[in-house]
Amino acid sequence: MVTAPASGKQRKRWRVANRRATDGVIADLLRRQGICSCFVLMPEPYWPKHQNAYLLSSAHANGSLLRIECRRCRVTRFFVPSDLARVFGDIEVDDVARKMRCEKCGEKWSMRISMELPMAAQRATMTIRRLDRIYHVKRVTWRDLVGG
Ligand SMILES: [Zn+2]
Repeated sequence: MVTAPASGKQRKRWRVANRRATDGVIADLLRRQGICSCFVLMPEPYWPKHQNAYLLSSAHANGSLLRIECRRCRVTRFFVPSDLARVFGDIEVDDVARKMRCEKCGEKWSMRISMELPMAAQRATMTIRRLDRIYHVKRVTWRDLVGG
């Protein structure tokens, strides 16, 4: 192990070089284990599929609402993009439908999504489904051990 230089600029350069070296070692290790190293280098778990991906954050920024409809039971609800981003992360608007399930019939494949940009007056009369709370369920498993 080489020690870091004491002075500022040199020290910064050393740190960058050393980080790159460490990344390389981890990537090599993972490749040898047959695990793709890509996830190590990705800063976020979700990566847009293309450059012009329309993310929930963009939809929120322009004041859109997401209209999500179940084609099977014709239930339509309006969501605020930032609420959905809190649940799913800042994913592409197109990917939201795949992550949702109809509360009424339980179907996943039947969800259709579109964006709406209502006027303020219109929005004031709309029923919008807002995120109430996120709670975590604690689950435990047990196992029997001879002699404890
Ligand atoms: Zn349904």
